[in-house]
Amino acid sequence: MAQFKLQGSGGYIIADLTEDQAKKADLGVGKLFLAPVGKLEEQKMFKHYCKNCAVEFDKPPKIQLEENPNELVADNLILIERGQYTCQQCSSIIGEYRVFKKQDESSDVGNARSNQ
Ligand SMILES: [Zn+2]
Repeated sequence: MAQFKLQGSGGYIIADLTEDQAKKADLGVGKLFLAPVGKLEEQKMFKHYCKNCAVEFDKPPKIQLEENPNELVADNLILIERGQYTCQQCSSIIGEYRVFKKQDESSDVGNARSNQ
């Protein structure tokens, strides 16, 4: 575990990431990004920087959560959770994350075939 700086649209967050999370956040441009990591635990975030306030706060951002939107975003891909990290002071958005689930129908097809 180490502390990483994760870029969002409205600032950044300093957080403790696992190796796996750090790999997800690294899009190969020399910076790490918030969006691909998924949800971060509040206790794993140490600081947040808000562009609007132009201040780095010594505490985690707020998390605004929308659970189970169940929005079909593409074939077989469902949005199951959406969250926003917002500034503790002015509530502007620091960054967002989305969690998707694949609707895997192959196992059902397999069962149907074996029953025939
Ligand atoms: Zn702010």
